[in-house]
Amino acid sequence: MDTLPTIVIGGGLAGLTAAATLARDGRSVVVIEGASQLGGRARTRHHDGFDLNLGPHALYIGGGASAVLRDLGVGAPGRRPRLHRSGVLAGEQVVPAMRFLQREVRQRRRLMGLITGRGRRGADRLAGVTTSEWIHDTLSDPGALAVAASVLRTATYSADRDLLDAGAAAMQLRAATTRGVRYIDGGWTTLVHGLAVQVRRHGGEIRTGVAAAAVEHDDQVHAVRLADGTTLPAAGVVVAVNDPRHALGLLDGPAAARLADAVDDMVPLRMAHLDVALRPLPAAAHPNILGIDRPVYLTVQSDVARVAPNGGAVIHVGRYLVPGEERRDHRPELEHVLDVAQPGWRDHVVDVRYVPRSLVSGDHPRPATTGSQGRVAADAPGVRGLAIAGDWVGPSGMLADAAMRSGQDAAAVMTAGSIATAREAVAA
Ligand SMILES: Cc1cc2nc3c(=O)[nH]c(=O)nc-3n(C[C@H](O)[C@H](O)[C@H](O)COP(=O)(O)OP(=O)(O)OC[C@H]3O[C@@H](n4cnc5c(N)ncnc54)[C@H](O)[C@@H]3O)c2cc1C
Repeated sequence: MDTLPTIVIGGGLAGLTAAATLARDGRSVVVIEGASQLGGRARTRHHDGFDLNLGPHALYIGGGASAVLRDLGVGAPGRRPRLHRSGVLAGEQVVPAMRFLQREVRQRRRLMGLITGRGRRGADRLAGVTTSEWIHDTLSDPGALAVAASVLRTATYSADRDLLDAGAAAMQLRAATTRGVRYIDGGWTTLVHGLAVQVRRHGGEIRTGVAAAAVEHDDQVHAVRLADGTTLPAAGVVVAVNDPRHALGLLDGPAAARLADAVDDMVPLRMAHLDVALRPLPAAAHPNILGIDRPVYLTVQSDVARVAPNGGAVIHVGRYLVPGEERRDHRPELEHVLDVAQPGWRDHVVDVRYVPRSLVSGDHPRPATTGSQGRVAADAPGVRGLAIAGDWVGPSGMLADAAMRSGQDAAAVMTAGSIATAREAVAA
């Protein structure tokens, strides 16, 4: 047992994963979370029996986050969305997705090959290629191209096909189509709570409302300096804050210099979203609606998950943003989507929240980093006892899958000293 604890900065999925793993493995751990509530982007607002996630959230059943949750003994109750009842928003009309496919798409077989990963080029051969190149190399029919773009946006949250690596996109599509996704009962706070229970069960400590101002280190970690000026001595530190630039700002000297170039190139992935609780739901026909000629998505998560009381509904409407669109007001467009899909919704509002530019991920999986494969590693700062974690770190997956996998990588760095040593230990 260490005499000093490992301090995890950030109580989102990445930080809580690192803490739960370290605590389970017998290390002394303290999580400090700057906000008054745990969870970061996986937090859920509970209001009048409704559970509102921060935008549409779906857990990839075959993905890294699910595997980590299983490993840590955290349940993820919920159900798969009923995708056969999906609609598409084309012009001012919502039409059943199957009907749209039959009427408007000529290259259906090729399109399905691309979406399910049974196309001509496997995900490994697509790494380093833009998604734009990939889909134009595979499809020529405008209907098929529009559906491919829409499905890709929904699976990856990226609307910028030149910034999105085709290998990463293909893997994400494959994960979505083979095992599917699950909407979580009680919202994603259920996962956050489950992780926090594991941290505490193994003797870890969690403090909310405690913000870090800096990590004190030379080539070895010494302490965390808090925003109130006090210092917490530490045997190790995991930096699991939301934004790569913020993580960089907590470090200095050669460690910061080693991360700076990679962080400078990162392009955050953002979404504008409207999260709505209604009672009752005006129209039940299409619980999932994909925009065809505009980058929007609507999902009635209460259709399958327990996130609303009887007779109520929770809906998330998202607008995928390409870099440069973050400062625009997308609320009228999102409300218009609801007007078309759920006529009269304004008369049934119990709770509503508009978030203009949510940070979905700290970086796109870009062709320049061959998707996720070339992202910075958990031990990239090169300081003994220091690791980073987040959805922009490590070689595995995207979004929460990347956040939680990198949380476990960070824990392995604390135990083994470096990612390479941790991998050798696993292989031996
Ligand atoms: C709209 C939206 C939709 C999404 N949909 C999906 C989806 O469908 N599927 C999926 O897999 N992923 C999805 N994601 C992504 C997923 O939510 C994130 O990848 C994941 O929650 C990130 O976890 P994290 O711990 O890395 O970061 P965060 O959740 O951001 O946690 C970081 C924490 O650090 C804290 N912090 C920051 N600075 C300090 C400091 N100085 N001191 C102490 N604490 C600090 C913050 O308060 C925060 O709680 C979505 C995200 C958004 C925004």
